[in-house]
Amino acid sequence: MKTALVCGAGGFIGNHLVSRLKREGFWVRGVDLKLPPYCDTDADDFMIGDLRDQAICRAVVDRRFDEVYQLAADMGGAGYIFTGEHDADVMHNSATINLNMIDACYKRTIKNVFYSSSACMYPAYNQEDPLNPKCSEDSAYPAAPDSEYGWEKLFSERVYLSFRRNHGMKTHVARYHNIFGPLGTWDGGKEKAPAAICRKIARAKSGDAIEIWGDGEQTRSFLYVEECLEATTRLLRSSFSGPVNIGSEEMVSINQLVDIVADIAGKRIDKNHIPGPTGVRGRNSDNRLIREKLSWAPSQPLREGLTKTYAWIEAQVRANTPQK
Ligand code: NAD
Repeated sequence: MKTALVCGAGGFIGNHLVSRLKREGFWVRGVDLKLPPYCDTDADDFMIGDLRDQAICRAVVDRRFDEVYQLAADMGGAGYIFTGEHDADVMHNSATINLNMIDACYKRTIKNVFYSSSACMYPAYNQEDPLNPKCSEDSAYPAAPDSEYGWEKLFSERVYLSFRRNHGMKTHVARYHNIFGPLGTWDGGKEKAPAAICRKIARAKSGDAIEIWGDGEQTRSFLYVEECLEATTRLLRSSFSGPVNIGSEEMVSINQLVDIVADIAGKRIDKNHIPGPTGVRGRNSDNRLIREKLSWAPSQPLREGLTKTYAWIEAQVRANTPQK
């Protein structure tokens, strides 16, 4: 039986990845500071542990796993990574996890290791025009990410690729672009735009206004989690190292995203634009490289994933609203 290790298995993508690997027939170990908050894990073995601790990493990597997915990171949405309040934690915690994990895998002579970087590592100067952002993989340098989160991702990408170069490991690096779906953080300050918008609309009555950070004209693309996992497993099982974008090319403004979710909810929703952290003005995935190397492109329109996500978040909101 093939074996896989998922670091960050209590998190949004890691939890979905564990379930997918189980469906594929793997024996799966998950590790995280916490269990998944919204459902039971499907992992055969789940270790609660802090990957900033080298001894924990060595204990977690106690065998030669066929596949290791390193997704653990100190992260959150714009309200967490763009305010500056968490910069030291984000830099120190994630870099320590990444250094410890690659070293533990190397010492165990594990070959296949996946690392999840982020589109936040792309230079801010290429993302000032909301209608024409540039995020091709080769546009990463001269480096100028707009957050410490992005700088740490850039550093760790280089760590994982240097172990491939110098130690013959098959490390693979993906740059995720806004992954969303059910079972993701939907409140509490670490949630991302799609979840926050679904929550606000689920709580609103038709005719209400919801608060949107900035003018809402900033653009992004959003990839449904199942599509992300298809690309992730394809990348790890390929001979291609990356870095490669894993994202959608269906770019929308945040205002358009609100309109789509309002339409799904069947509510008329106004927007109250307020100051808040917004990140770069425009960002979209550029999928030319992944199409060429892995013959992969997302197949679901944004609206389809949002429909499933809204249904899940609306159920959470209902379950968490006290009955009158
Ligand atoms: P998430 O925050 O839900 O999951 C990350 C998990 O890492 C959390 O469960 C957290 O508890 C765990 N973790 C943090 N510190 C740890 C530590 N010291 N020891 C053990 N576990 C620790 O995030 P996610 O959305 O599932 O993202 C997974 C990965 O993909 C992250 O590396 C993230 O930076 C990257 N990424 C995600 C997105 C996205 O849109 N979700 C976009 C770009 C990149």
